[in-house]
Amino acid sequence: MAQRYIRVKNQEGHIYYGLLHPSFKVQALDAAPWLNGQSTDLSLEPDDYQILAPCAPSKIVAVGKNYADHAGEMGSEVPSEPLIFLKPPTSIIPSGKDIHYPSQSQRVDYEGELALVIGDHASDCTPEEAHTKIWGYTIANDVTARDLQRKDGQWTRAKGFDTFCPLGPWIVRELSPGARLQTFLNDEITPVQCSNIDQMVFSPDFLVSFISKVMTLMPGDVILTGTPLGVGPLNIGDRVRVEIEGIGRLDNTVVAS
Ligand code: MG
Repeated sequence: MAQRYIRVKNQEGHIYYGLLHPSFKVQALDAAPWLNGQSTDLSLEPDDYQILAPCAPSKIVAVGKNYADHAGEMGSEVPSEPLIFLKPPTSIIPSGKDIHYPSQSQRVDYEGELALVIGDHASDCTPEEAHTKIWGYTIANDVTARDLQRKDGQWTRAKGFDTFCPLGPWIVRELSPGARLQTFLNDEITPVQCSNIDQMVFSPDFLVSFISKVMTLMPGDVILTGTPLGVGPLNIGDRVRVEIEGIGRLDNTVVAS
């Protein structure tokens, strides 16, 4: 199993980056692993910590319509260059926390996505340089108030509510280029989204290069790489689970706000 990099809070409220062992013990690091954090002799038992989102980015840059089948279902063409937008860091929640359904919306959708975690300052990078700036991979749900996205024209409100960016549960450094991405609702066996990440229009290296020519990416920043076909509504009480082969599963429940 690939090494899993996690972020946790202990019962005293101290936050640690760490390595998750198969026993679910966490070996604490003295800094974020992309900042060269080293192992300490502190080991946390499963009962001693709660899981946090695996990083604390300065920004989340998300990409729209990066799978042709999803662009089609939204009634649009694949953009000729990446369509990017921001989600605020305050939208992040870890696996296991609740998504709050905002009272301003009558249509909230899931969007299962591969998330890239940036390990180094990235500014004006070529795709080859950008490749070296991607430290690892995790899972995201780009929760979207679809009615407000259409109504507002721009996407800040629709994408920016608190709890609208489930992220985690941990980071891995290696990922199969054809890894399968699936989204499941409740106890249904058939996924509502099922694709392979190599179906993206613009690759991770290209996206990081493109974004780095607009804004400097910082260590710990997160890139959401877009969602495949099959977006659909969430209802209060639903459980939504995004799985990516080789990473794990991101699990959240929708509650009334
Ligand atoms: Mg999205």
